[in-house]
Amino acid sequence: MNNIADQLNAAYQNLTENCLELGRDLTSICLIAVSKTKPAAAIAEAYQAGQRQFGENYPQELQSKADELATLQDLQWHFIGPLQSNKTRLVAGHASWVHSIDRLKIAERLAAQRPPELGKLKILLQVNISNEASKAGISAAELDELALAVSTLPQLELKGLMAIPAPGDSERAFAAMQQLSANLQQKYPGAIELSMGMSDDWPLALKYGATMIRLGTAIFGARTYARNE
Ligand SMILES: *Cc1c(COP(=O)(O)O)cnc(C)c1O
Repeated sequence: MNNIADQLNAAYQNLTENCLELGRDLTSICLIAVSKTKPAAAIAEAYQAGQRQFGENYPQELQSKADELATLQDLQWHFIGPLQSNKTRLVAGHASWVHSIDRLKIAERLAAQRPPELGKLKILLQVNISNEASKAGISAAELDELALAVSTLPQLELKGLMAIPAPGDSERAFAAMQQLSANLQQKYPGAIELSMGMSDDWPLALKYGATMIRLGTAIFGARTYARNE
C-alpha cells in the first residue's frame, strides 16, 4: 500500500509533531534514510520525493549505489556500519559522513585517503553506551583520548557522537549520550551532532537531544534479507 514517498512524508510529519511537542527546532534535526539492502531504485524514489541524506552500512554496497546514482545532485551518504581498514578507501571516496568511528587507525586511513576535492569528511565517534561485549564502539572512558586524536587529523572534521543502545536500555543510554555530547562540546564546540534513534525508538532519542535519526524500516519497509553486522 504505502510507497516510499508516503512513508517519507509520514516520517517528516511525525518528526515535525515530535519537535513541536519537545520544543526542538526541526531545522536542527537530520533525518537519515537508511537504505542498506535496498536497491538504488528505492533510493532514487526517495530522492525524487525530496530526501537527500542516506545511510549505508556496507562499503561495497555504498560504492555501487554511489556510482549508480552519481548524477543525483546534493545526495549525501552517511556511512553507519562497521568499517574495516581494507575498505576505508571506498568510504573515503563516497561518504560525506562516517558515524561509526571507534578506532584511531580507521580514522587515520580515512584522513589519508580522503580525496581533497570532496572536502572534509565529517566524523562521529561511536560509543558502546550499553557496554555490550563484542559490540562496536568505544567505552565512555576512552572517548576523550580518541576525540583528541581524531580532532588533529587532516581532512576530517569531528562533528559528534553516535550510539546504538542495547534493547531495553534505550532511555538510560540516550540520557548518558546526551551528557557525553555536552561534555564533548565543551572541548570541541563544533561537535554538535548526536546520532541516535532508529525506526522504533527515535522519538525517545529526540527527547534526549538526538540531532540525527537513522530510519530504515520506517521509510523503506522491512528488509527482506539481513547480513551479518
Ligand atoms: C539498519 C540500521 C538503522 C536503521 O534501522 P531501522 O530499525 O530499520 O530503522 C539505523 N542505524 C544503524 C546503525 C543501522 O545499522
